[in-house]
Amino acid sequence: MRSISIFGVTGSIGENTFDLIMRGGGPAAYRTVALTGARNIKRLAEMARALDAEIAVTAHEECLPDLRDALAGSGIACAAGQGAIAEAADRPADWVMSAIVGAAGLVPGMQALRHGGTLALANKESLVTAGPLLMATAAKYGATLLPVDSEHSAVFQALLGEEKAAVERVIITASGGPFRNFTLDQMRAITLAQAVAHPNWSMGQRISIDSASMFNKALELIETREFFDFAPNQIEVIVHPQSIIHALIGFCDGGIMAHLGPADMRHAIGFALHWPRRGPVPVERLNLARIAALNFEAPDETRFPALRLARDVMETRGLSGAAFNAAKEIALDHFIGGNLPFLAMAEVVEDTLSRLSRQNSLQIAATALEDVLGMDHLARKTAAEAVKTWQQGR
Ligand code: NDP
Ligand code: MG
Repeated sequence: MRSISIFGVTGSIGENTFDLIMRGGGPAAYRTVALTGARNIKRLAEMARALDAEIAVTAHEECLPDLRDALAGSGIACAAGQGAIAEAADRPADWVMSAIVGAAGLVPGMQALRHGGTLALANKESLVTAGPLLMATAAKYGATLLPVDSEHSAVFQALLGEEKAAVERVIITASGGPFRNFTLDQMRAITLAQAVAHPNWSMGQRISIDSASMFNKALELIETREFFDFAPNQIEVIVHPQSIIHALIGFCDGGIMAHLGPADMRHAIGFALHWPRRGPVPVERLNLARIAALNFEAPDETRFPALRLARDVMETRGLSGAAFNAAKEIALDHFIGGNLPFLAMAEVVEDTLSRLSRQNSLQIAATALEDVLGMDHLARKTAAEAVKTWQQGR
């Protein structure tokens, strides 16, 4: 029986993964090792019971009593805290879903790779902050790393059977989000409710806002660079409002392979779950006649400066991805908290990167996870200062 763990099971990707596992037979077909969540204890306990998990872990110590109550009599072990999540990741499983949001997903993912199984990677922040370390760890322990981000799953699929040397360019698509047609003036007044409402995809709050600001696409440019190891100038973004094509590969003979699919993450999750075979996934089938048209437009880096900042990170590499992501997370916290306008998020990230660049700390290559975590910490502190400077300058 195949053993699985799901980190971030209570989130949007986690729920979709759980859905596929249950449809695939649930506890009769899979042995569930660990499930982790954070605040949604009721759902975590329900899922742990449904899959008869060995252990359920919450990220927060203060949630442990509730988790214990919810799992009383089930025989399922409980634990709390980031250390406990890392320990849960140290329990070997054949297939692990990494779907915690943010840099918090890095350590458990790295831990899981050491057991040489398959890591289905939704947590793009792992690749952005520590791409070379993550890839090297997977190689060292013979682990299989599979992309779950829809664009990266699409790139992976379009590359199957192809020679990498024949690839000229990789194009990932962006829906353009809810503000695709907003003027800069309109963008100054964007509210949280507007930013969370994605036109095509149903996702967690943070990635939905990142999609609206195109910070998500910025992370995905870096993710593409790190996962597939193409040069930065081979990687492009095209705005494609229908979100039907997820990525395209341009070859040296002028041909382009495109990957199409419905805007349902269960396709990419299912692909990673069934890999190396293809298995049935219950997503809606595309009705191309009804879709009728596929449109494309160039991204606008003036209204969406995150894309320009990502280009710098792709060139600099080193610890700049960790700094970029941490600064973005702090700016996003402040936007969600109502302390920073939508457009100021990119200004704060840019200011943070230039402060750190003046200290010459961005281009240093990480030799260990501690280097990445150190930069994550420093960049969060620096970004908090950049937020204060921004607020004082108003
Ligand atoms: P959600 O916000 O919906 O879920 C996040 C999960 O992580 C939840 O289980 C949450 O627990 C848990 N969590 C939150 N904070 C912490 C923490 N500090 N430590 C440990 N666990 C924590 O996110 P998504 O599912 O949308 O995204 C997950 C990852 O997948 C992200 O990296 C995202 O970029 C990526 N991704 C998501 C896509 C999507 O369609 N949603 C598409 C492509 C990539 P709880 O809910 O119990 O508080
Ligand atoms: Mg994506």
